[in-house]
Amino acid sequence: MSMINLFPESFNIIDLTHTINETTSVWDGSCGFSSELIDDYKNFGFRAQKYTMRSCLGTHLDSPAHCNEGSTDCASIKIENCIVQTYVIDLTSKAHEDYCISVDDIQQFENSYEKIKEGSLVFFSTGWAKRWNDPILFRNVKDDGIPHFPFVSPDVAKLLLDRNVVGIGIDTFSPDPIISDAPVHRLLLGAGKYIIESVANLENMPPINSYAIALPLKISGAVESPIRLIGLVSK
Ligand SMILES: [Zn+2]
Repeated sequence: MSMINLFPESFNIIDLTHTINETTSVWDGSCGFSSELIDDYKNFGFRAQKYTMRSCLGTHLDSPAHCNEGSTDCASIKIENCIVQTYVIDLTSKAHEDYCISVDDIQQFENSYEKIKEGSLVFFSTGWAKRWNDPILFRNVKDDGIPHFPFVSPDVAKLLLDRNVVGIGIDTFSPDPIISDAPVHRLLLGAGKYIIESVANLENMPPINSYAIALPLKISGAVESPIRLIGLVSK
């Protein structure tokens, strides 16, 4: 068990979560969410709803079980791995729609700040979150019929496994390109790490000196789960 002292007066709190609504799409373009009224105020004074949604909707976490049968799911993920020190690697000045985040980018970050610590969560800030409110712009399907967005090189995943991080997060749909065999997913989830996708507001986070709270719903067998992702920035 790890120990952290969380004094609210010592942190600025940043919401790193996108709002989900009826227009929110998932990576394949299908709309992932609908809300149905089960009861309303006029009956017993309470409104109740039933949600139908894809498990990969909005800001969400992929557990190791997402691509490894029998591996850790969202209910069994260790919560001490979900409240952790974070790093935010800012790539907004160079991350074009086919940008591959490279080992060089990580080394430049480590040279400027510090070596990425064991047990931390590494976020990639590409600027893509600014497109979130326009699902067409966020998916960015080009003439070849597939979505294009910045992604992560498998060598970066290997380097971060060397650093023994708990996981990574990115502000696009995925750290892997849509047309690929998802090497970054396979490497990280295969090693028991997690991946957070469609992260919001990373531009408000500093490169170092912050924490994140990334808690998936405790649904038995859930391989992915929407999360309310919170950044805590030391004052
Ligand atoms: Zn994923």
